[in-house]
Amino acid sequence: MSPLLKRALPLLVALALLLPAMIYLAMKNVPPPPLAETPAPAPTPGEIPQPPESPAPPAPQSPSPPPVTPALSVLGEMPDWARLEAFQETITRGDFERLLTEIFTVGGAWRRFIEIGENEARILTGSTPEAEIFHLRFAPDETSAAPTPRNWRRTSDLPPAPEGQPLDGLHIAIDPGHIGGEWAKIEERWLLIGDGPPVREGDMTLLVAKLLVPRLQALGARVSLVRDKTEPITPLRPGSLLDLAADTAEPPDSPAALQKLAERLFYRTAEIRARARVVNETLKPDLVLCLHFNADAWGDPANPILVERSHLHLLLNGAYTDEEVSLTDQRFALLDKLLRRTHEEEALVGATVADVFAQRSGLPPFIYQPDSPNARPVNNHPYLWARNLLANRLYDCPVIFMEPYVMNSTPDYPRLKAGDYDGLREINGVMRPSIFREYADALTEGLARHYATQRSLRER
Ligand SMILES: [Zn+2]
Repeated sequence: MSPLLKRALPLLVALALLLPAMIYLAMKNVPPPPLAETPAPAPTPGEIPQPPESPAPPAPQSPSPPPVTPALSVLGEMPDWARLEAFQETITRGDFERLLTEIFTVGGAWRRFIEIGENEARILTGSTPEAEIFHLRFAPDETSAAPTPRNWRRTSDLPPAPEGQPLDGLHIAIDPGHIGGEWAKIEERWLLIGDGPPVREGDMTLLVAKLLVPRLQALGARVSLVRDKTEPITPLRPGSLLDLAADTAEPPDSPAALQKLAERLFYRTAEIRARARVVNETLKPDLVLCLHFNADAWGDPANPILVERSHLHLLLNGAYTDEEVSLTDQRFALLDKLLRRTHEEEALVGATVADVFAQRSGLPPFIYQPDSPNARPVNNHPYLWARNLLANRLYDCPVIFMEPYVMNSTPDYPRLKAGDYDGLREINGVMRPSIFREYADALTEGLARHYATQRSLRER
């Protein structure tokens, strides 16, 4: 072999290996996967439209080659696909396909990554067709299906309850949405009309959480708070996320835009990921209640737009967009959620909670557009919707994500401004209870009714 050929050999071998892959990609017309989480929906629907979870733009279309490492969400971790081994033969082909197409996805991009065969699903574990395939074997039928491994208990797993204690033995974690306090401005979760202290969502969800604790305990539940003050759980701060912000911003952005981006990475991404670690690794509850107050676009927080209508809906995990499905960590999370069968429990608990809450509060349902790019109706229940939010995706157990009231609405703003109080007060000419107690009482009653009707009574 000539010395020249010898030196060129590695290059030739590499070319020979790469060429078929490049031709295959060109023929399949596979677009390069996005480098990072791209237009994810705002974390809560109907709330002020906010920039996506990650503001990074999609990867350039060409001529850059597809990245070798799988595409991940910002601060997302490389999934361990072997963890899905535990779900072999736990689900039938029919259930898998129905959950995947009717609840967990909105588009057809999953077909690029998941192939449903007669006896198994073949799942691409990376971003390119060359990535390893995970084989998920289906159960032949319901009766021979292996039990689904869970580190939380379904309603049907709970033992009979003593009379008057329908939540006996149930471990509930309450996640008061947002941070509040001095962080409310950074989070853009505050508004003020006229004088007095502003309305801050993170403070109000914490107030409702603290009202909920004794109410749920009185019914027999063990209750944990994911946060108990208006401070972040994550040790990260916007300042420590500036480098990451600069890395994810393409093309390079102005210092002010980078600061905003670092703030969003702090309160949205890092904070919720830190809460997920507390929920999954420390608390390990049977159910998480994510508390929020909804809002409509209000413009200037110091001179907010008021809307007429208030409403209610509950969000269950699902409705992953095509872009989300193409991110390796989110595709893994989708399958992990689907296979843990959290959806069935969320829909079961959520239906009664929504019915009771609607009845007690008188709130009409919030309805997404039929062609919504990131929401799907659940079981035709007017108050139940599937959406892929960071919190309901990352928490391992079932999550009831509450979106009642509209902070900048004429019926609700005066009630929020009035604060918490005993008994009734006249608001807009009507005697009303504190909106925070109404929230806590309606949610408690909804949970009580669900577990009271679904659990049998313990013999005396
Ligand atoms: Zn919220």
